[in-house]
Amino acid sequence: MAQPQHIVILGSGLAGASAAGELRAKGFTGEVVLIGKEPHRPYELPALSKGILLGDAADPDWVHDEDFYAKNDIELRLSTTVGEIRLGDRVVIDDAGTAQAYDRLLLATGSRPRTLDLSGSDLEGVRTLRTLDDSRALLAALTPGARVVIIGAGWIGCEVAAAARKHEAEVTIVERLPLPLHQVLGDTIARVFLDLHTENGVSWRLDSGVAEFTGDGGKVTGVRLADGTVLPADLVVVAIGAVPRVELAHAAGLQLSDSVPGGGVDTDATLRTSAPDVYAAGDIAAQFHPRYGRRVRVEHWANAKDQGAHVAGNLLDAGEPYTRSPYFFSDQYDLGMEVRGLANPFRDELVVRGDLSAREFIAFWLRDGSVHAAMNVNLWDDGDALQALVDNQTKAEPQQLQQADLASLVG
Ligand SMILES: Cc1cc2nc3c(=O)[nH]c(=O)nc-3n(C[C@H](O)[C@H](O)[C@H](O)COP(=O)(O)OP(=O)(O)OC[C@H]3O[C@@H](n4cnc5c(N)ncnc54)[C@H](O)[C@@H]3O)c2cc1C
Repeated sequence: MAQPQHIVILGSGLAGASAAGELRAKGFTGEVVLIGKEPHRPYELPALSKGILLGDAADPDWVHDEDFYAKNDIELRLSTTVGEIRLGDRVVIDDAGTAQAYDRLLLATGSRPRTLDLSGSDLEGVRTLRTLDDSRALLAALTPGARVVIIGAGWIGCEVAAAARKHEAEVTIVERLPLPLHQVLGDTIARVFLDLHTENGVSWRLDSGVAEFTGDGGKVTGVRLADGTVLPADLVVVAIGAVPRVELAHAAGLQLSDSVPGGGVDTDATLRTSAPDVYAAGDIAAQFHPRYGRRVRVEHWANAKDQGAHVAGNLLDAGEPYTRSPYFFSDQYDLGMEVRGLANPFRDELVVRGDLSAREFIAFWLRDGSVHAAMNVNLWDDGDALQALVDNQTKAEPQQLQQADLASLVG
């Protein structure tokens, strides 16, 4: 097929905006249209639960400078929601009825927060966190003494808790599992986060379900747990994960995944969907990942940035598989950490190097003796070695991982 002349990118988040920039960096001179429902130019999400919520930053990290889009002849259509993709006609149609033709389409519609369909979910003061406006509104509500109940002790719930404590709010986290971050970190490492938050004044309701939100005059006043206890609340943050926005893809007839948690748009290794001229990247892509030999969907900053840049080449017919291992970071209080790779903490062998109680350690997850994932907490010197160990799935003895110079283990 001839090189495309009209590329439409649906979703102006990190994946979409990275793809748009990279198309121009690769010398593509045809039309690039980047469409997003956000009123703000593309920005990165991590600061929404960190710098902005802590009150340390007024703005998020913008993906590109304000004048980048005009300078690079990228048509950025903000505050525009696409309601339909017509694969047969190769057009997307926005809510105003405007049709935009493409010869290659990138879907980068990201995720939305999972919500609780309970009595009182629509009360004022029951919030989720996904956008810059959500973050700014949440910051305004985090005042000293405010009673904040966070539902869900995943990454975002934990980061919101840290920000709320900084603003001297009273924080309770309700979690249905026995420990925070339990599913991703397993017992031993999850306890590090339990202790961290407890020492910083967070109260816990673990192994607890939510029955309803109570209110008065349309405003939330409390959270009733499944055991009947009512936690008084001025603010509730529902942070129980995200679901990929696949409705448009589904309605268009693209193949969706039933093999990754939460679903997603199926792609091959090159991020191409079941329609030959349509690609997907970022949170929505359930990619057949060559490194793992199965479908993987990753809801991380680095994945959105790197897949977005990578898919630009494939929109121009490079046909290159995307092979990077997942990478994630988080900051909570004085704990900073990075995770590389994909662990199954309930199946893989955990090896710890360093001091868990001092919160300065590296955790390795080994499968059949090979390093599948590594997490460095408050230690920053071995990033390249950790990346190589994970990328190569290096075989190593636990004792070597605990004591040897890590660079020396990289083959
Ligand atoms: C608060 C928060 C903190 C995070 N912190 C970290 C972190 O510390 N480390 C980390 O690794 N990851 C973090 N993440 C995850 C990471 O930011 C995401 O995985 C990444 O931003 C996903 O990018 P994306 O472009 O795929 O999707 P999104 O950022 O969700 O962008 C998709 C865009 O598409 C738009 N859109 C959707 N449907 C339509 C439509 N029909 N029409 C028009 N536009 C549409 C949306 O409005 C949105 O702007 C965080 C996420 C959140 C919410």
